[in-house]
Amino acid sequence: MVDDDTVEQLCGLDKEVIAAAGKVRFFNRPVVGGKGSELYTPEGSALIDFSSTWTAAGLGYGDPRIAENVHKTLLNCPGLGIGSLISAPCLELAKRLLDLTDTVGYGKKECERRVYLGHSGSDANDIAMRLCRAASERKGGGRRVLAFEHSYHGGFGEALGLSGVQVEGGAREDRCVTFLPYPNRTNPHVSSGNIEDELDFCLKEARRAALGNDVACLIVEPILSDGGMIVPPDGFLSGLRSICDEFDIPMICDEVKVGLGRPGTTHAYQHEGIRPDIVTFGKTLGAGLPISAIVGPASIMDCAPGSALLTMGGNPVCASAALSFLDILQREDLARQAGEKGDYLEKRLRRILSKREGRISRHVVDVRGRGLARAMELDDGKSPERFAEKVCYRANQLGVVVYYVGGHVLELTPALTISYEQLDDGADVIVQAIEDVANGAIDDDEICGFGGW
Ligand SMILES: *Cc1c(COP(=O)(O)O)cnc(C)c1O
Repeated sequence: MVDDDTVEQLCGLDKEVIAAAGKVRFFNRPVVGGKGSELYTPEGSALIDFSSTWTAAGLGYGDPRIAENVHKTLLNCPGLGIGSLISAPCLELAKRLLDLTDTVGYGKKECERRVYLGHSGSDANDIAMRLCRAASERKGGGRRVLAFEHSYHGGFGEALGLSGVQVEGGAREDRCVTFLPYPNRTNPHVSSGNIEDELDFCLKEARRAALGNDVACLIVEPILSDGGMIVPPDGFLSGLRSICDEFDIPMICDEVKVGLGRPGTTHAYQHEGIRPDIVTFGKTLGAGLPISAIVGPASIMDCAPGSALLTMGGNPVCASAALSFLDILQREDLARQAGEKGDYLEKRLRRILSKREGRISRHVVDVRGRGLARAMELDDGKSPERFAEKVCYRANQLGVVVYYVGGHVLELTPALTISYEQLDDGADVIVQAIEDVANGAIDDDEICGFGGW
């Protein structure tokens, strides 16, 4: 148990010692521990975690099965990186990832494939894109990368310039990146507002960009997450696949955020049964430890030897955690669970909202998502972003950790292992928080410094 002074002290220290460059705060309560889908505050209350640290904690926190394997490897550690030491856990992980992605890397014909192991989703995307550029230039092709508006692929290096949300927010632009429209039901690019027209428009734009003949690769999130948890209409991914086939462009699916079970399938791209050329993983892969991976064709992955060396890339401790995670993912069929839990959560939210008709339902514009990649789009008709900030802050006061993305969209991405009871309780709290904020429970002053983005 810790008293209020300690809470204030921790918040004060956070201001004094942690660089602003590396944080976005949505509330002012520190956490001192966590187990499963619960995070504990210094006062000893349990918060239900509906973010799972932006999906990194796919199994929740403190899973003893992960800890056991990690502990074993730490105590008898075959070096700390695959860069110059061949080690069993990394080789095993690479093989497992190849098995798990047996539809990746073949393009039109069978080919050899390789795995790159890094630390974070950012490095995986950065390096995947650099390798595609190197492979393209080697063949006399161009450096242009096709990415999407409001996308997110990473927080540093060349991955920053690939990220629509970052470039839109002022990050240095990469002049060899073209941002394409991503089909959006709630905010379409076409005046008809019809999703079929929207899909048609987006695919036409993608094809037009591919005609330039200077394209090194296309990178896409199968569900646009940080841009507002936008699920594209069926036909989008397969349409992109056809364009990539037609112009011989490698297609990268960024599965860092919603991949590995969360969307109700192992990979989000499986929803349309497509075969990406390259796939990137991160966040949940290490079940608590930092590890990322790229799976792709040898012709690209081997084209620039030694060009992406990270000292601890392919860290066997993290690889052990990833192996345990993949075991559990498959053994417990977490993908199926995520699909069922996600549908349950959306139904529950819709039911509670309909019971409160009139009072708050007009503040919730949309409930959407797939599997446990779910979202509620908020709009109070005045200042939707401010409203979303306050809802996150209020939800935390009431006992739920939830963040917003895409300006005013609550991102509901709990651990795949969350219980139905926790889903019920969390959904109730979030709706209560929306109602409270609509009734003026939180002042502008109160969230000063804790208002998110
Ligand atoms: C979070 C994220 C990344 C970057 O991962 P980090 O672990 O933050 O480096 C890349 N792509 C997507 C889609 C993400 O959500």
